Parts: sequence; C-alpha cells; structure tokens
Amino acid sequence: MKVIENYIEDTRNLEDATIKEMQDGLLRETLAYVSERSPYYRERLRGIVGRCGVDDIGLLPVTRRDELQEDNWGLLCVDRKNIAEVVATTGTTGNPLFIALTAGDMERLAENERRWFSVMGLGAESLVQIAVTMDNLFVAGMAYYKGLEALGAGIIRSGASNAKRQLELIVRLKPDVIIAVPSFMLKLSREAEKLGLKPGSLKKALLIGETIRGADMVSNQLGRLVEEAWNIECFSTYGITEASVAFTECASHAGFHSHPDLVFTEVLDDEGMAVPDGDIGELVVTTFKVEAMPLIRYATGDVCFKLEGPCDCGSAMPRIGPVIGRKAQKLKVKGTTVYPGAIENALLKVAGVVNCHITAYSGEAGTDLVRVVVGVDGDVSSPGVQAILQDARSSLKASARFTPVLEVLTPQEVERLLCSAGGRKNSVFKDIRERVKSL
Ligand SMILES: [Zn+2]
Repeated sequence: MKVIENYIEDTRNLEDATIKEMQDGLLRETLAYVSERSPYYRERLRGIVGRCGVDDIGLLPVTRRDELQEDNWGLLCVDRKNIAEVVATTGTTGNPLFIALTAGDMERLAENERRWFSVMGLGAESLVQIAVTMDNLFVAGMAYYKGLEALGAGIIRSGASNAKRQLELIVRLKPDVIIAVPSFMLKLSREAEKLGLKPGSLKKALLIGETIRGADMVSNQLGRLVEEAWNIECFSTYGITEASVAFTECASHAGFHSHPDLVFTEVLDDEGMAVPDGDIGELVVTTFKVEAMPLIRYATGDVCFKLEGPCDCGSAMPRIGPVIGRKAQKLKVKGTTVYPGAIENALLKVAGVVNCHITAYSGEAGTDLVRVVVGVDGDVSSPGVQAILQDARSSLKASARFTPVLEVLTPQEVERLLCSAGGRKNSVFKDIRERVKSL
C-alpha cells in the first residue's frame, strides 16, 4: 500500500501557510499509520495521538536511537515480503540501525534527490560522476543514483576509491558534475597535479560527509580549498539515513533546505523543548510518506540551528544551518557551551593557522577542560605568529564565544596528533572525559 500516491513536482514555490497546512495533514496521516502498523509506535503513542498537528508535536515522545537499537524491527510497518532494500547507519557510536525500505520508499528516496539535483540546476543533459560508494548498505550512493535516473541525467558510477581511475574518467568522459566527499576532492586535485592531468570539465560538485560551511554559511577551510583547487560551485548536503532524506543547499548557498512534504524538522534543547530559530540544539526529524519504517520525532544526535525567514532564493522551504557537531561532543567550559566543530571552524578561518587539534578532559564539578592546539609555521615569539594567535583568539570569541589558551605547535606536530588515534581519518577532536557518554 502506498502512503501517498503522488508527489508534489516542486516544493520551492509553496507559501508558508500552505506548507503548514500540508504538514499538519501529513503528520496526522503518519501518526495514524504508525499507530496502526508499527509495534514500536503502537505502544508509545497509545492514547496521545488524537488530532495532533505540527504545532502540538511537542506532546509526542522523542524517539531515541538507543531505544531503537533495542527494538529495531519494532519500527517495521509492512510485511517482510514488501521490503525492497535494507540499508544501515554508518555512525561511529553503538550498533548500526537497519532501515528497511519498500519500493515506494525507494521512489521517495529518488524523489528527494531528483528535486535537489533540479535545484542545483541539473537536467537530462547533465553527466554526473558518483564518486561515493554504492554498496555496503550505504544509502546515499544509491539515493543519488536513483535521483539522477529519475531526472534523466547521465551517470558515471565510479565508486569511492582509486583516485587515478577517477581522474582518468573525468578526463576522458568529461562529466560536468561530481558527487564526492570534500577531502577526496582534495586528494583528487593533488593526484591530478602529480600525474600532470588537467581535468577541466567539472562545473559543480555535491559534497557529502564533511561540513564545508561555517555557522555563518561561508566556506570553511575545507570548502575553500575544494573550491579553489577545482574552480567549481560546491553544494553541501547533509543526509539522515534513518529518515531517508537529505538537506541540501540551493544556489544561494544560505543554509540547507528540506522538502517540507518529506520531513518535519525541530531543533530541541537538552530538556526536549524547541529552541528559537537561530539557537543551537539537537536536530529532531519526523518523516512523511515513508512506508516501511516511518520515524516520529527522531533525535539525530546532530547539533545545528534553524534559519528564519525566506531564503535569498525566494523559497519558503525550511532551512537549517550546517551541522556543528554531535550532541555527545558538547563541551561545557566555564558556563559556556561550545562544540569542537565550532572551535575548528573558527580557527581554520584564520590566515596562518594550518591545522588544529582539540582535546577535552574532565574538570571538577562537571565542567570540561579543553586543550586547543594550533599548527602555525614560524617562531612562536615572532610578531607574525603572535598576530596570527591574536586573530585566532578574536575569531574564537566572535563565532564560538570561547577564549581558550592556545598552544602553538608546528603544523607537522599537529598532523601527528591528528593521526594519533590510529584511524584512517584525521580526527580533530579527542574526547577523554570521564563521564559516560550518551547520545
Ligand atoms: Zn534557498
């Protein structure tokens, strides 16, 4: 059975009032659907569903990931025979969650991405290289493939590895768009230089997996490096596997839009109360038009903020700012709340700061102690380095309201700290606080 037969072709021109009315209806339908079909929600929503609209959504319980890990299949609303695909979350904490999708959910996944590609200005004439993985239960690669297919665009399914082969494909097939992880784009540009290749066909990139914008929506160091290395327009996207949706930038690059007929977003404080637009909190999502495993008020663990008012592009589609970090990474320092991602962005904005590393320790009485190391070339007592440190302190104060003692090392020494975890990926933040971390 299909929850919703038809999708709206384009949600960009909907008015606020229309969005609200539509979401009220979709929420009621979804609540009725899960109360009837999902063993997990039937129990939890008993007696409190009523005729809840989005204004009353705060009355409903928040769905926490650790509870779902106990009862993953309690979410399933369809017969096993209707499952078309199973994907999994890739989070670094806890066991993965498995998300089943029906054929209808696959269509919804495709529709979500088709619209974003359309917002990016792509069409049937576009040739797109998908340089992210298509297998291993990873949902995004498949979602892009399905979305591009629905758009009628040409697809080069190159996968996530082998920089040399990726470059050869770009040079020979001349795609105009690439979908990749930003740091992989930098690896590709370094490899191109080494091989003497000039892959000049790309005009746009959809970048996933790493944030390329600061809280002010301006490109952070990673974004700037990709833009400069490739001379392309970068669109940042943030996806939630559990909800089968992605939040993506429009051509105004002023935050991440969501499709209001596919997902309802809230940003909540630690007590579970909605924060005002612009304030930081945990992103909580409710899915619409999902058949197999709809989610009601699912707490993502990601921290961001809502953006008020219409976007520069003129659309009333809701927007959030870039993800600042994980809720579990929140630091409480002398009464100020700060996230490692915000510290990193503030520091890497400063000319002369090559890299940085942040470590959190347990302080007394529940406070956190933070060691912030910056990688700067030159003698620490020289006026040049002192000026860089002054800029770094001002930047931290302005954008993170945080004034730590900055420790200076050479960029090579910081690089060693970044790799000290032994993992493949450089880790800017090391959390050695004593308390038990919760999601
Ligand atoms: Zn916009």
